[in-house]
Amino acid sequence: MITLVNKPHVSSDDPFDKPPCRGCSSYLVEPYIKCAECGPSPFLLCLQCFTRGYEYKKHQSDHKYEIMVKRAVCI
Ligand SMILES: [Zn+2]
Ligand SMILES: [Zn+2]
Repeated sequence: MITLVNKPHVSSDDPFDKPPCRGCSSYLVEPYIKCAECGPSPFLLCLQCFTRGYEYKKHQSDHKYEIMVKRAVCI
């Protein structure tokens, strides 16, 4: 039996409308993590890097985070 994973239909989305993960430079797919304290350029992490507590320069793993999900969050 094959269980289908709920995969959003992305063909109409621009895949280049956001920067890559700061930790591993991979293309970000929702949900991903945005640091709420680093700026002005968005500090974005994929879930894997967020889970390992990635830190970079001023960014510390105890910063506040926002979870970015597909077009559902208005900030
Ligand atoms: Zn990453
Ligand atoms: Zn930060």
